[in-house]
Amino acid sequence: MNQDIWTQIKNEVRSSVGANNYTAWIEPLTYKSLDGRVIQLEAPTPFIGNWVAQNFSDIILRHLANAGVPVERLECIVTNRLTNTVHHSEKTNKAFPRQLQNHPSEDADITGATLDPRFTFSEFVVGTSNEMAFTAAQRVALGETLGFNPLFLYGGVGLGKTHLMQAIAWQVKAQKPHKRVLYLSAEQFMYRFIQALRQRDTMTFKQLFRTVDILLVDDVQFIAGKQSTQEEFFHTFNALIDQGKQIVISSDRSPGDMADVEERIKSRLQSGLVVDLHPANYELRLGILQQKATHLKDKNSDLVIAPGVLEFLAERISSNIRVLEGAITRLFAFSSLVGGTITLERATDCLADVLRSSERKLTIEEIMKKVCEYYGIRMSDLVSARRTRSVARPRQMAMYLAKSLTPRSYPEIGHKFGGRDHTTILHGVRKIEQLIAIDTQIAEDAQILQRKLEG
Ligand code: ADP
Ligand code: MG
Repeated sequence: MNQDIWTQIKNEVRSSVGANNYTAWIEPLTYKSLDGRVIQLEAPTPFIGNWVAQNFSDIILRHLANAGVPVERLECIVTNRLTNTVHHSEKTNKAFPRQLQNHPSEDADITGATLDPRFTFSEFVVGTSNEMAFTAAQRVALGETLGFNPLFLYGGVGLGKTHLMQAIAWQVKAQKPHKRVLYLSAEQFMYRFIQALRQRDTMTFKQLFRTVDILLVDDVQFIAGKQSTQEEFFHTFNALIDQGKQIVISSDRSPGDMADVEERIKSRLQSGLVVDLHPANYELRLGILQQKATHLKDKNSDLVIAPGVLEFLAERISSNIRVLEGAITRLFAFSSLVGGTITLERATDCLADVLRSSERKLTIEEIMKKVCEYYGIRMSDLVSARRTRSVARPRQMAMYLAKSLTPRSYPEIGHKFGGRDHTTILHGVRKIEQLIAIDTQIAEDAQILQRKLEG
């Protein structure tokens, strides 16, 4: 058992617990030791340690067993840097709520989730898909604008929402240390609220939240359908906005698309600036890979990366930035273990699973549509029997792309192309393959289209 295996296991746990739980609870854990049949993990705060021990032990133990590391018990330890005490939380520890009562200062202070030191503005690579969000986040951090309140960031998993929110928190803390900045996930908000209810101490809870200057709540979709949490959130939200305090919120969907959230809350959420983050395009993906590669090389200067490897990964891994980052981290970890140059072949081997799952499920219709757009012809031309060059070549290109980018068979493709025979499709595909080798224009068309379709 070592840190690398732990990283691998964390990745597997992610698929069981989902991205949000993963970021909030699993990602911050580091491997400490394996003593007999007890594994010790280090958590950044007692809160996280307890929560993990209570809620995720079984899942983690199961994944460890699957990886051939049989463990009976999980302990989360927290090394408190100030007092140097070590908190233990174990799965078998039933005294969890009482323990928290014994430390009233723990929930009376206003610490939110731990901020990741890497999530700063300077580490954020800007591209067309995230430029707006980046700019808005920076303006909020500078405290320049009141119009952006709340700032609502939304977008799919792994596109940089958490990174930007924490970047705001870091910057405000650095430049205006007197400001009270509170960053937490909606899940943590709910947890604290429920705890306050249980301890019949909602007054303290309310007061604490209402004294912050800037409140950042991550993954707010989590409170959808949770009636009383939603209500409390709404009150906190209103109180802060009325005092002119800044609020930043993230979600995996736009306010309008949040089901099970009351209308008045939705409209309040949209009352500031709503910005979405789009999936990263090729250039941004490459930019991010280059940045991460530089950092990883700083740590291990012996690593040599063959030309074209980063470009290949940027082209092939398109799902999300977190996956991209995970891929290059794994590739470097592996390479620093075995040594030698990071070649295309090694990347393909080492990342086979990522590359496979990242293949987009393109449909033949999508391909046909893109080809029509690109050549400026109509869909009806593509399936028609017309044989003029201006139509026939794009049609063959579409056949070629359908064959190379989808798992469909020749007869299936023929069916989509106006019921053509499979030999016609085979001929079309061969034709383009031949032309790509000798005609640079066709080769370029194929490349551009492929990139458009995969991006
Ligand atoms: P989200 O919260 O939207 O699911 P995160 O903010 O957690 O996504 O981002 C996932 C990972 O990708 C993080 O490690 C983050 O640092 C990285 N990342 C995302 N966008 C960028 C970017 N533009 N530049 C550099 N790293 C990024
Ligand atoms: Mg996030």
